[in-house]
Amino acid sequence: MEQQTPWTAKLTAKLRRESFVLLVALAIAFIAVTAGMNGWGVLGLLAIMLLAIMCSSEPRPQVASVPPVSEVEEPAARSLLPEVSATLSALDIPVMVLAGDASVLFQNRAAEKAFGEVVIGAHISARLRSPGILDMVRETIVTNAPNQIEHSERLPSERVYIVRSSPVELGAVGGANHGASERLFVLSFRDISEVRRIDRMRSDFVANASHELRTPLASLRGFIETIQGPAKSDFKAQERFLGIMFDQTTRMSRLVDDLLSLSRLELKSHIAPDEKVDLVPLLGHVRDALLPLANDVGVDIQLHLPEGRAEVAGDRDELVQVFENLIENACKYGQEGKLVEVFLKNGPSGPVEVTIVDKGPGIPAEHVPRLTERFYRVNIEDSRSKKGTGLGLAIVKHILTRHRARLIVKSEVGKGTSFTVRF
Ligand code: ADP
Repeated sequence: MEQQTPWTAKLTAKLRRESFVLLVALAIAFIAVTAGMNGWGVLGLLAIMLLAIMCSSEPRPQVASVPPVSEVEEPAARSLLPEVSATLSALDIPVMVLAGDASVLFQNRAAEKAFGEVVIGAHISARLRSPGILDMVRETIVTNAPNQIEHSERLPSERVYIVRSSPVELGAVGGANHGASERLFVLSFRDISEVRRIDRMRSDFVANASHELRTPLASLRGFIETIQGPAKSDFKAQERFLGIMFDQTTRMSRLVDDLLSLSRLELKSHIAPDEKVDLVPLLGHVRDALLPLANDVGVDIQLHLPEGRAEVAGDRDELVQVFENLIENACKYGQEGKLVEVFLKNGPSGPVEVTIVDKGPGIPAEHVPRLTERFYRVNIEDSRSKKGTGLGLAIVKHILTRHRARLIVKSEVGKGTSFTVRF
């Protein structure tokens, strides 16, 4: 209900508005007094002027009138049917509904999470600044045809979206306050960041694998050409070259074996193994298998095993591969420490844990988080000279993921490294 303004307030407002006229009136009264008019005459004059002010018409229009904030016209209160907004809210992809003037009529929860809250009724540009998206929305509104663009956001995290704007058939979606003539548009955001990441990983992987195979292949080709040409009758050189060629083919077949292992593991990564494997004899077997290599590099492998059994649910061959890779790495990269120790913990209350400790040069902290990436090496030449493929720890990680086990790496430069497998 409209509130009545008291007459005193009206008078004060009016006097304030007409202060200039009032000043003139007072000046005239002053002149009249000095000119000899008596008190009653002056009072009468003032009374007439006051009456004139009170009866004057509404205030003169101001040159530039800015309405107070509270009087700014609210965006038209328009809304979608509750069933429609509830349905859109249940979608896990960000969706906004726009009116024909590109104002936002609705945004679902996923959009709110991705881009923050938007004032309903505000123009889309109040929330999304991308010129690409704004141009696309404009074009869809003008042409009434769907459009889509790729849009990336850097903050708060890098994301790539396929943003699509399309007109809505109002026959299908009517709004409580929408006339038949009003048009609606849907702006949807499909997050393709993960797809992009996997694409990039795949192409990096193919590039790395090709590179790893091309190097020994190029060297083989060179030696074959030399044997066929300049070294045709140099049997001593031929023998030396054949030795190198043998090493190169061994390296290639190791690489192909590792690649096949990885792809086999990927195929069954979601199936958890359920065989019962006792780690006590398994670690003994791995140590025996690695003794020739340990002797070659002058490393002593010591096992610290508990009494009794240490059983885990797993795949025996895969677990052999895990511990072979870790103990072999400790012998190869930590050979200057001369000692590799393997601790098996089977605490009845805690988890089963195997820790492999070497006293080698250690790994600088910045490399540790990336060690299990395919083809990642701290030092490529060092790895190659030690017959590494750069896939050993990636295979370990895959096998452990399938076994629901964790790999914990601790390393101190100059002191050594420990790899713990916690089941
Ligand atoms: P590679 O076939 O090169 O050995 P891995 O995936 O097994 O590949 O290991 C990746 C890299 O991690 C190695 O190239 C090496 O630089 C580093 N690394 C692994 N184990 C150790 C260790 N015990 N001490 C020092 N560096 C290690």
